[in-house]
Amino acid sequence: MTAQPQPDSASQPSFEILAAARRAIIAIDGPAGAGKSTVARHLAQFYGLLNLETGAMYRAFALKALTAGVGLDDVAGLLPLSAQTTIHLEPTGEGNLVYLDGTDVTARLREPEVTDGASRVSVHPQIRAWMVGLQQQLAASGGVVMEGRDIGTVVFPHADVKIFLDAAPEVRGLRRYDQLDPEAAAEVQPEEVVRELRARDERDRNRADSPLKPADDAVILDSTRLTLDQVVAQAEAIVAAKLSAPKFS
Ligand code: C5P
Repeated sequence: MTAQPQPDSASQPSFEILAAARRAIIAIDGPAGAGKSTVARHLAQFYGLLNLETGAMYRAFALKALTAGVGLDDVAGLLPLSAQTTIHLEPTGEGNLVYLDGTDVTARLREPEVTDGASRVSVHPQIRAWMVGLQQQLAASGGVVMEGRDIGTVVFPHADVKIFLDAAPEVRGLRRYDQLDPEAAAEVQPEEVVRELRARDERDRNRADSPLKPADDAVILDSTRLTLDQVVAQAEAIVAAKLSAPKFS
């Protein structure tokens, strides 16, 4: 892991950094459960940026396919479906509200079937090309933290800041388990959550198109042995260092 200075998290960013952030694209990539959403949400709040969760877009499309009865591996069926689909993200302090064809589907996107479906529809290059186009439009004018798997490598290869957030699979799986509400946690063993997460990782890392991997110029932040506060503090320091570079002054 790249050693990063620890910022004073309570302090406010300088005027210069805030001004630079308004034009910046910050890419946060990494596997499930690495803490991307928490970090992205914090950075968005701290620097006054829009927080866009691209995983939610794949989840919304998976929900559409499941509802329409189109097979998740059936590209010939998925493509025409994508042409009749609108996905809209509305950033809030707690994450994104997601509208699928005008209806708020946010509450359904964490269902296990949808989670698995998102990782299956996202292997198809034509579906990815459509999503990447939407994501590029959403962030075209900057002032955005965008989180996903391929933001720094494919969606915005020239992003101003690229952070690849990682952690050991067991740690990520247990964090996911701890986040479950008591009802859901009673129905599943922690080992199952780890297994499901490994299966998704495998698919994301090994797909032919846009596999999950750090961009060459990403800063790798391994959160395995860090508290969430430490991860957030390091991410803040990475952003502050990049946005203080001469390009932005
Ligand atoms: O980030 P989240 O867990 O919501 O993403 C759901 C799934 O969507 C991931 O498992 C991954 O397969 C896919 N995804 C992707 N590219 C992105 C974001 C998510 O392939 N930029």
